[in-house]
Amino acid sequence: MGNYAKTESTHYLQVALPTPLRRVFDYLPPKSGIDALSPGIRLKVPFGPRKLIGILIAITTKTDIPPSSLKHAEHVLDEQPIIPRDLLDLCRWVAHYYHHSLGETLSTAIPVALRQGKPVAQQTRKLWRLTYPAAEVPSNIARNAKLQLAAWQLLKQHLKGLHEPMLKSLGVSSQTLSALEKKGEVECILEELPTLHTMPQSILHEAPLTLNPEQAHVVQQILQAAQQFQTFLLQGITGSGKTEVYLQLIEHTLKAGRQALVLIPEIGLTPQTLHRFEQRFAVPIVVIHSGLNDSERFLAWQKAIDYRAGIIIGTRSAVFTPLAKPGLIIIDEEHDASYKQQDSLRYSARDIAIYRARQANIPIVLGSATPSLETIHNAKAHRYRHLRLNQRAGMAKPPSIELLNIRGETLQAGLSSALQQKITQHLEKDQQVLIFINRRGYAPTLLCHECGWAADCPDCDAHLTIHRQPAHLHCHHCDYQQPIPERCGRCNTASLFPVGAGTERIEDFLIGQFDPTPVIRIDRDSTRGKSRLQQLFKDIHQGEPAILVGTQMLAKGHHFPKVTLVAILDADSGLFSSDFRGLERLGQLITQVAGRAGRGTLAGEVVIQTHHPESPILNSLVTEGYDTFANTLLAEREKLGLPPYGYIGLFRVECKKHEEGEQLLLQLRELINQFLQHNNLNGPLGVTLLGPLPAPMEKRQNWYRWQMLVSSPARQPLHTAIAFAVHQLEGGNQMLVKLARKLRWSVDIDPQDMM
Ligand code: ADP
Ligand code: ZN
Ligand code: ZN
Repeated sequence: MGNYAKTESTHYLQVALPTPLRRVFDYLPPKSGIDALSPGIRLKVPFGPRKLIGILIAITTKTDIPPSSLKHAEHVLDEQPIIPRDLLDLCRWVAHYYHHSLGETLSTAIPVALRQGKPVAQQTRKLWRLTYPAAEVPSNIARNAKLQLAAWQLLKQHLKGLHEPMLKSLGVSSQTLSALEKKGEVECILEELPTLHTMPQSILHEAPLTLNPEQAHVVQQILQAAQQFQTFLLQGITGSGKTEVYLQLIEHTLKAGRQALVLIPEIGLTPQTLHRFEQRFAVPIVVIHSGLNDSERFLAWQKAIDYRAGIIIGTRSAVFTPLAKPGLIIIDEEHDASYKQQDSLRYSARDIAIYRARQANIPIVLGSATPSLETIHNAKAHRYRHLRLNQRAGMAKPPSIELLNIRGETLQAGLSSALQQKITQHLEKDQQVLIFINRRGYAPTLLCHECGWAADCPDCDAHLTIHRQPAHLHCHHCDYQQPIPERCGRCNTASLFPVGAGTERIEDFLIGQFDPTPVIRIDRDSTRGKSRLQQLFKDIHQGEPAILVGTQMLAKGHHFPKVTLVAILDADSGLFSSDFRGLERLGQLITQVAGRAGRGTLAGEVVIQTHHPESPILNSLVTEGYDTFANTLLAEREKLGLPPYGYIGLFRVECKKHEEGEQLLLQLRELINQFLQHNNLNGPLGVTLLGPLPAPMEKRQNWYRWQMLVSSPARQPLHTAIAFAVHQLEGGNQMLVKLARKLRWSVDIDPQDMM
């Protein structure tokens, strides 16, 4: 206790707390002193009237707060850091880059159980064995205690002991074991779970495929960089064998005693990919996705950090999983929009993964048939190594693509007669057909024939979608639901009719038109329930003639070898999107969906219905392919200074009173402009502000939405301006703080979706 007073007076704890405030909080050390404290442990601290669990970030000797008003941390939850150093550093970078609170960033990164202060469980298992191996059954086991006798006999045959789960599977209950334990006949040893160091096992279940020359070259190129940071873009057409390349890279990683982190867009949609990993590898794999409950997530995290799993596969949030021995990161379908979180901490898992790879000094592979323009740009600038797979791995040939003019055509449930003829042709050859439309439900609008009234969501600027199974109107933006009215909400006549077609209506039409061919609909509504989607995939894989109708869910990594015709019904909505990424997304979608055609030995055909068959950009995509298409878009972005040639951030405001959001952003704009002028950041090479403008969807869930775009040709000035603005909103400017209190605001760095 001698130096207690001294310690207390000279050391302060910087603690990250789960509050939106973008700062750390200073505390005095707990009464027990600071000897046992290191960054990454959890502390319970007083915060106003509440107690919060925070993470110790640093111990310092300085504080800006008068020490007399500082409080003591109350309770130390961990002896060892639960957040490893590199994860802590990663989260600090993430919080800084996205202008987000460090405490909330940490909350996003770690499992709920840890956030709530649960103890980190020892990972042990119970081994039971005889206390001493007697030749005869000991006398204190009664001859008629059959269960105890049986257990004793069993353990006598296994003098090294048996693990509890094994004993249970052999019919020995815990009661029997504890009865024997009380008699002193058996003992229980707590063993640590084995890590990959001690697990005597081979890495592979099955032999790898023999790589084709292209694949072999790619693998060799990446392995050459295996001991250091390097970002690779693996651009391979659909079916070119990217997954096989991943598998073999991972095999090398495991052999080198290291772990691989694999990010994929959506687990439920790609069971096949996951299955291939499990079939190939004998080492433990953990899978991290949104379907896990808290304790499963916690277990997965511990297996990764304790080196009990060799491969960690997961969706977006898995990017934060700490690894004991990082060796390789793979981002499959790197262009996929689901890697960007769209609320709270609006991070890009791909970009964070690249930071992680640099931090751990390991290679990272971004795989895609249709890389994002950002990634292509980075590859051109030689920040990434660009590797390609141009041939389909098996026998399959690339499909032919046709733009089908539907101008002036009468469509039936969205299908032209030419398309219907093609469907018949393919079905007659006993093949399968895939119809793609990115709109679920029966029809997107319920309209009045008399007066033009449309059934709208009361809370959003959006039409209600008609659903038939079950029948109701549904807002796809806020989940509002109501029965389908019989009469018009304005003129009260009974002349309401559905306009446009969604998956349900197309399904109905196809069933009637192509009876008895089965129609399989795949969208979020038809696949509720865990096993439903698997069952639908199974049906498709039977290979019988069938028509598949589906949304985006069908565009992702599936192999349907019998599908030879793919039709895209509404390409035009992408041509005229208000979002500057609309065309990029359309090109990716067409290329991805087209990749579903003819993946077996049969040749494939792709039909794109459009009112603009002469569109130069569509034609360049169809005739010259994704690379040329992407180059054209890049040239346009460069002219306009849009990403990847400029950097953007978006302030979003949601308010209950329409004008309050605009007021706040106008004030903010004023302040930022003064700041820019003062710091000579206001020229064309500096920072430009656009807005405030109402968001493309001006009202959602009863909130009015405004936004202001901040852009700059360089990253640094953009971040300087945003950091300034955030500081003003959080306390720097009292007027703003007062306005901000009445509404919700957030900042989105590198926004993907301008809605
Ligand atoms: P991608 O991930 O690029 O779409 P996949 O890795 O799924 O492509 O490969 C497409 C198909 O080709 C799969 O059925 C796969 O098993 C097969 N394949 C991949 N590589 C080889 C190879 N070297 N030899 C034989 N078949 C291969
Ligand atoms: Zn009407
Ligand atoms: Zn709504």
